[in-house]
Amino acid sequence: MQKLIELEKDEAILVSSQVESFLKPDFVYLPVLGDDQIKVYQNSKVDIGSQLFVRSSTLCSVSGIVRQIKKMDSWDDASYYLEVENDFEERRKEMNFNHSPLTKEIIFQALGIEHKDEIKNIVLNAIDDEVYALTENFYLFLYYEEFLALLDEIRQLCLIDHIYVCLKASSSENVSKLMSELGMYPEIELKIVPDLYLLGKPKFLLSYLGIEENNTCVISAKEFYRVYHLLKRNRIPTDELITISGDGVKNPKVVQVKIGARLKDVVDELIDVKDDVCYIANGLMSGREIHLDSFVITSSLDSLLIMKNTLEKEEGKCINCGLCSDICPVLLYPKRLSEANYRKQCINCGLCSYICPVHIKFRRDNDGKNSLSSFQER
Ligand code: SF4
Ligand code: SF4
Repeated sequence: MQKLIELEKDEAILVSSQVESFLKPDFVYLPVLGDDQIKVYQNSKVDIGSQLFVRSSTLCSVSGIVRQIKKMDSWDDASYYLEVENDFEERRKEMNFNHSPLTKEIIFQALGIEHKDEIKNIVLNAIDDEVYALTENFYLFLYYEEFLALLDEIRQLCLIDHIYVCLKASSSENVSKLMSELGMYPEIELKIVPDLYLLGKPKFLLSYLGIEENNTCVISAKEFYRVYHLLKRNRIPTDELITISGDGVKNPKVVQVKIGARLKDVVDELIDVKDDVCYIANGLMSGREIHLDSFVITSSLDSLLIMKNTLEKEEGKCINCGLCSDICPVLLYPKRLSEANYRKQCINCGLCSYICPVHIKFRRDNDGKNSLSSFQER
């Protein structure tokens, strides 16, 4: 296995153990992906769980009125977003995901597993790879009782041989909570891993633990939160956790937010930001700098880093030291990343840029394009 590295971090940045909420935004913005078609009209009344698009599985996260299409940004590959004004009535569309009683088929469908007879192990992965992010950790921290009970039910109904719960040794509060709770679930095994970059990625985690990839389902704690809602509450969650931290924040914390809310509204409401900062979505290693004003929270956003504006180091000229290719976990030559075919193999881990002594940036930018022809005003 490739050598995994411990990333440098500022130990002074401490995330509060209290989670705060931002669940009542005035507006939400739902991404119009690719050439997807919009199913609703301007001024239509919609509910929580309404399907707004023909193909995308994104559901409306508030009840309210469809207002307009706006050019915004998010971690998703979309440039345009459908704006829904919240009416705060919390009307909810019922889902027809029949979950009672739970069966193996229903469970595997919720877990997204196709070859159900081959699955022998389930790994619940609560490891945050990015420095200063604690999102996965907090999903486990907040819902460990529900998660363990459901995992044990899945183990019995689906005849799973091994269930593992993985988290970092640095998550000491979580480790002790789980240790005491696991007394009730002797069949679930806790795996504590060191704080090494990329152990949060399934392939690297399984290799580190010596667990076979072919018959194992690895599910992140965040994704398991969705599965839990689907199986136990018959709904898709309309909220998620994100970590907001960094040396540009006076009060780093994990926040429970409404999917579709504007990130700036959350920051303005809950975060004490220092002067002269920059904003980075999804971490220093694999994230990118964003404009806070137009950035929308989608389910693929895990963290916001707010850093003192000292990140941009001037790129120098390559000195052919070879460090970037030595460190690449998938054995690429990062200098060839400009070639489209080659780029497909990159897992966007950011290690090549991290290690480069002359600060060459190899990462790609988001370049989403949308067709809006299907949205009709009336
Ligand atoms: S970002 Fe891509 S090329 Fe660079 S180290 Fe990671 S996988 Fe390799
Ligand atoms: S790490 Fe930077 S300087 Fe060294 S070979 Fe790679 S691009 Fe060139």
